[in-house]
Parts: sequence; C-alpha cells; structure tokens
Amino acid sequence: MITRNVNIANLKAGYLFPEIAKRRREFAAANPDAKIISLGVGNTTEPILPFTNAGLVEGARQLGTKEGYSGYQDEGLPLLREKISKVFYKGKFSIDEIFVSDGAKCDIGRLQMLFGAGTKIAVQDPSYPVYVDGSVLAGAAGGWEGTGYTGITYLPCTTENNFFPNLDLIPQNSLIYFCSPNNPTGAVSDHKQLSKLVEAAINKRCIIIFDAAYSEFIRDPSLPKTIYEIEKADSCAIEVNSFSKPAGFTGVRLGWSVVPKELKYAGGESVNADWNRIMGTIFNGASNIAQAGGLVSLDDEGLKEIRCLTDFYLGNAKLIREALQKLGIHCIGGDNSPYIWAFFPGRDSWEVFAEILEKCHIVTTPGAGFGPAGQGFVRFSAFGHRADVEEACRRLDTFFK
Ligand code: PLP
Repeated sequence: MITRNVNIANLKAGYLFPEIAKRRREFAAANPDAKIISLGVGNTTEPILPFTNAGLVEGARQLGTKEGYSGYQDEGLPLLREKISKVFYKGKFSIDEIFVSDGAKCDIGRLQMLFGAGTKIAVQDPSYPVYVDGSVLAGAAGGWEGTGYTGITYLPCTTENNFFPNLDLIPQNSLIYFCSPNNPTGAVSDHKQLSKLVEAAINKRCIIIFDAAYSEFIRDPSLPKTIYEIEKADSCAIEVNSFSKPAGFTGVRLGWSVVPKELKYAGGESVNADWNRIMGTIFNGASNIAQAGGLVSLDDEGLKEIRCLTDFYLGNAKLIREALQKLGIHCIGGDNSPYIWAFFPGRDSWEVFAEILEKCHIVTTPGAGFGPAGQGFVRFSAFGHRADVEEACRRLDTFFK
C-alpha cells in the first residue's frame, strides 16, 4: 500500500481555525441560548460594494457572449496586471513580474516549490499559520517546537522589541516570511525597520516572502505599503497580496504575487522564470469573473470603495481597542490594521479565549495558536457587522471585569 507523505505527520495536530470552530460548536451545543459573536477569524462580513460588484456581474455576463467570452488566462489578464503595477507599485513592474492568482494563501503554499525540501525557514513569531504549516508540508526543514525538528527559526515579536524581531537570529541562506501590517499582532513595520530587513536578507543571502495582504488598511502615510518602497528589495523579495480583505473577495478568490526579474537564486538563475514555469504547470489562472471584478475595483470608483470598506473595519477596530483599553487591557494594532493584539500577562491564551467565550459569548483567537511568542495574547478581529461589534464591546464592558 502507498505510504503517507511523512511531512503530514510533522504538522501540529490541527489547523488553528478549525480547532476554534470546534470549540465554538461545543460551547454552542452546551449553551443553546447563547448568542455567540465571532471576533475570531479574519473572514470578511460586509457585502461587496456596488461598483465592484457590478464589475463581477459584468464579467459573468461577458462570458455568455461571443465577443466577451474568454478561456484560460494563465498569468492573469494583462490589463489587470498592468493596473496592479500602476496602483500598488507606481508602474515599477512589468506585467510579466506580476502573477495573478486565486489568493495570497494559495500562493504562499505554492511558493515553497521554488525552494524545495530542506530549505531553512525564518518566520516572525507569532505569525499567520500558513507560513510554518506550508513549509512543513513542503518538507522544508522543521516543524513546531517539541516535534524534534529544528529547521524553522522563530523570530519572536514581543512587547520588549516592539513587535519587530531581532534580525541577527535569521540564518544564512534562508527563506524569510514577513508580514506587515502583521497578522496577528496588527503591528506595522516602518521604513527604517524594513530597510534593516532588506539589508539583512541581502547580507545573509536570503529571500523574503513579504505578505502585504493588509496594506490597504494603512492610514499613516509614513508607513510603507509594500516592501518595494525599500531600495534593493527587488533583488531579495517576493511580495504576495490579495483582494480578499480590501475588496471583500475572501469568497471570490483573487490575489497576486510580484516576482521581480532582478531576483536570483544563489546560482544566478531567475526566480521569475521558475515561478512562471511552476504557475504554468500547476495553476490554470484565477477565475475570469474574479479578475473582471478585481479590474474595476482598481478604477477610481473601485478604489473609493476599497477605502470605504477598510475604513468601516478600522472603525470596528477602534471600538474594540477602546473597549479593551477601558478595561485596562494593554493592546496594540487596530489603527493601521484590522487586528487588535491584547495582552494578558502571565495567562494562558487558550484559557483567556475560554473565559471570554464563557463570560461574553465572544469568539476570539488565542495568541498561542500563532506561535510560541503569542502565549499570553488574544487576537480580536475587526471583521464583523457593526451591531455585533458594538454588542461585543458592551458585553466586554459588562462581563469581563
Ligand atoms: N495573508 C495573511 C497575512 C492573511 O491573514 C490572510 C487571510 O486571513 C491571507 C494571506 C489569505 O489571503 P487570501 O484570501 O488572498 O488567500
């Protein structure tokens, strides 16, 4: 009989979010009258706004016409790639450096194929679980602490270092995952910090996978929205991004990766050429309908909708942060990101998660689920209907003393 992929056994028991869903189900079964509010997962809740939605509808309509019909679009509609370059990168990249995909998470998983088994990994701790789990699945050395594997280097992001890691910990020749605005901490790295990151990557001959999925939540104009605002980043970084959170496309599925032509492996081969080859081999392009919607979302009117939607979630974040601060709970994030990272010193984060669920009937995400340095923290997500967020704030104020 064929044997199981050994890498699967190296994964931590369960993916974080199904585990949270399980605990929520158990609580709901034991408390059938509880009106549970979820501030846990980062799933969007608000409808796609009309101009962008009309683009999706029009994309579907066109497919039913002889003139408008289109089939495979492997690397993405040229017009969309051009627009992504213009809107997000001031036209810096040619369209063959931009690869449209079915989402950032999918690209994060696939990008590992560029580097293969045994690759050393450096990752912010805490971090979005896919960086570590995807690496483990791909056979990149390592797994979670306690599994006996040591190939993943955690870069703790804590209150002591203001949530920017000690870059001296990054091993030579490694793949660095870096996310800003950060999920889960909500911290955003500034120019100086990202310049140091790029410098470290170049000196240590590393490649950075920079996850900018929350860049549209940045309101402070001094903060970088892409790694390519940093000089020389083209020679050491791939960037992934997504329409999921800014345009409400979590279910539509559309994202992109930038793989600059300047980026080379140690042997001088082109990473861009390999990514083109990989995507052409195992991916047949994002949905044409999603791309039609994405295209209009980058028109002036669409960009206004992105602003409006992200403003809405930032409004939620402000309410949550204020409610927590009123209770004397120290928290960061929520100003240029939709996540609030709340600190419960000395407490186990699953225990705090359980207490908030029991007392307030609110689902959060325990920080420890994002990595060892997340212990003692709980993440509140600002993705929710306003009435639910207001009710959650009232419950926190009333029951979580
Ligand atoms: N990157 C980060 C940091 C995320 O938090 C998420 C989703 O929560 C994603 C990527 C997933 O993006 P997509 O929906 O485009 O796959």
